[in-house]
Amino acid sequence: MKKILQDLSFEELENLTVRLGEKKFRAKQLYGGLMLGKRISAINVSSSLRERLSEEYEDEPVKILKTLTSSDGTEKYLFSLADGNVIEGVLMKYKYGYTQCVSTQVGCRMGCKFCASTLGGLVRNLSAGEILSQILCVNALHGGAADKRAVTNVVLMGSGEPLDNYENTVKFLRNVSAEGGINISPRNISLSTCGLVPKIYSLADEGLPINLTISLHQTTDAGRERTMPVAKKYKIEEILKACDYYFKKTGRRYIFEYSLIAGENCGKEHAEQLASLLKGKPCHVNLIRLNEVKERGLNTVSEKQAYSFLGMLEKSGLSATLRRSMGSDIGGACGQLRVSYLSEN
Ligand code: SAH
Repeated sequence: MKKILQDLSFEELENLTVRLGEKKFRAKQLYGGLMLGKRISAINVSSSLRERLSEEYEDEPVKILKTLTSSDGTEKYLFSLADGNVIEGVLMKYKYGYTQCVSTQVGCRMGCKFCASTLGGLVRNLSAGEILSQILCVNALHGGAADKRAVTNVVLMGSGEPLDNYENTVKFLRNVSAEGGINISPRNISLSTCGLVPKIYSLADEGLPINLTISLHQTTDAGRERTMPVAKKYKIEEILKACDYYFKKTGRRYIFEYSLIAGENCGKEHAEQLASLLKGKPCHVNLIRLNEVKERGLNTVSEKQAYSFLGMLEKSGLSATLRRSMGSDIGGACGQLRVSYLSEN
């Protein structure tokens, strides 16, 4: 596989341009084109520069292979990478703007028992530029003007565990929020993790005030170990300590994701345990009804049960919401589209 130009920050691109014997201002033209989602061969610079770059760099590292549109407007994409791997992403349309969910790895090795992304294990990490290019492609699909970009918010909640691909993820976060680039404010970016504790501390020290989301899903270590193998390594108490540190360093309130699984985590006792774990902490709980993945054999709860669980949390003083499940008619859950594509091809 060739290298990926979209991995570079503007400063790195400038150095490369100068190294290739070009004037510095060419870097600006090049960067402008890349940030519009253009392939190298379509960027308005000299043909000799385009050719030299194309020898070493992928012309189009990420391509939209397929788009599915849900009845609620949510769009789901299957992207192909230069080496033939596929990943997926989702675009959710809200009143305040468009939120894109990006993948950080091909597959995942965390093994959560409800999740489709981890079914085939981890294939490889995505580079910073492959993560960024998912957004560049979607902006281009939606018009692509530099002054009117479609994607205003980003969540790292697609396939993969972002903190298991730490260096590339942090590089992506810096590049996506760079002022001269697509300039998405860190405050409009959320990173979701299954709870890799040492990396939460590292992230807190990066000086990037993004929103931290923890996939909790259970209220005890024993329950969590059953649902998420990573819990054998990091206990809930250690995760909560790391979250406190994150808050201290960034001033950002953190969020817990809690997917409601029938017979597993949504009884009265779970609501009470959740309240005693989280009460008084600067956090919010996002409930979501499990998106059933047929290979997983776990069941979701009814809307009524979900609202009843939400009611119990609110009554105990926790800040919580039940998220609308968007795009479930098009396989909205993490990794479902890729799994069905791989089984058909
Ligand atoms: N690896 C990261 C981010 C990926 S998934 C993490 O674990 O947080 C984003 C969120 O979707 C996580 O909270 C994950 O637990 C949840 N999720 C995955 N599959 C799901 C499913 N089938 N139904 C409901 N939530 C799911």
